Amino acid sequence: MPFTPFHFGPAVAVHAIAPRQISFLSFCAANVLIDVEPLYYMVTDQYPLHRFFHTYVGACVALVMTIAIFAGARRLASVMPLPNLFGWKRLTMRPIALGAALGSFSHILLDSVMHGDVHPLWPVSNVNSLHGVISLRALHGSCIAAGFLGLIVVGVRRVLGKGEGEGGTRGPE
Ligand SMILES: [Zn+2]
Repeated sequence: MPFTPFHFGPAVAVHAIAPRQISFLSFCAANVLIDVEPLYYMVTDQYPLHRFFHTYVGACVALVMTIAIFAGARRLASVMPLPNLFGWKRLTMRPIALGAALGSFSHILLDSVMHGDVHPLWPVSNVNSLHGVISLRALHGSCIAAGFLGLIVVGVRRVLGKGEGEGGTRGPE
């Protein structure tokens, strides 16, 4: 299913580990961007659903596209007013790039386990040896657990007064 929310569990976890270094927003943006592919093929009734953007080569392209979107939005924000949702304007390129890279590559890794039509190593190989390596239930459970653990870490940080949102801010504006 496109836009699976399970990818956001690891996003919360990695952002909780290093809130200043890894952007949650760019992590999620890269994931959504990659899943535009199966959504397009699904609504146009074309199979397989997972193609170029569900390979590590495609993930590199999605990573660059995500960085370009954030860079473009920053430029646009310098000439016209844009809402500063989640403090994105304060993000520097480093956490954006790190978040986008982790988001892109973890997406391919997780989808390789989940979907039989993902060929992560294309064009080198069409083999997907990760498919079904653990059950969907275990995969989804670990993604949800990662998200909960991340939320606990974020919550504890906020209670202790060390809360840091995107780019070192303290939450949405
Ligand atoms: Zn996907």
